[in-house]
Amino acid sequence: MSAAMTPVVAKILWALGCVGWYVIRYPHQRRSRRTPVAERRNRLRDTVLMTISFTGLFAIPLTYAITDQPKFAAYPFHALQASLGVVVLVAAMALFYRTHRDLGRAWSVTLEIRQEHRLVTHGIYARLRHPMYAAFWLWALSQALLLPNWIAGLSGLVGFGTLFFARVDHEERMMLETFGEEYRAYMARTKRIVPGLY
Ligand code: SAH
Repeated sequence: MSAAMTPVVAKILWALGCVGWYVIRYPHQRRSRRTPVAERRNRLRDTVLMTISFTGLFAIPLTYAITDQPKFAAYPFHALQASLGVVVLVAAMALFYRTHRDLGRAWSVTLEIRQEHRLVTHGIYARLRHPMYAAFWLWALSQALLLPNWIAGLSGLVGFGTLFFARVDHEERMMLETFGEEYRAYMARTKRIVPGLY
């Protein structure tokens, strides 16, 4: 695999990841628009955070993929590093697919509680409370491995990291207020994004 791995191939694979992300998410986004919402949290705050995440995961690396900018932040390409990036990217997409399937109608772009919202604790959610965010972390990591540029590579981790750390406490508080003891017990037996660790 390493022999065929060039900077251009790595960029194309990064772009294919974005297409994969969109394809996995699209049907859920459509269905989500038709599922009535009972409660919305801090829409503006969420929008700002999502813009930051989008910039780091998409706008900056896309600019780099097309123009190689910012050139001062470039470092030498390593085929092995990029190949590892592909492995992480595939894992991210597989996890992303799984989380959408398990979360079903409970999924939303911003922090929301649906009418008839059910707490999901089966499938991948039996192991982690935020497996979709874990998939985003892996996706951001694959970007860092695929793009040999300190800024375009790491912007995804910084952008998504900002969203994650600013959002996860709010999300858990919202879930606690909605589901009470049920969510408290769920928290006691699961970790957030790394099984057994965090
Ligand atoms: N943080 C989760 C879900 C991301 S989608 C993950 O990373 O996998 C965000 C929406 O999912 C929130 O608006 C919340 O209403 C919903 N949600 C989060 N955890 C849930 C759970 N265990 N069961 C049902 N809905 C959940």
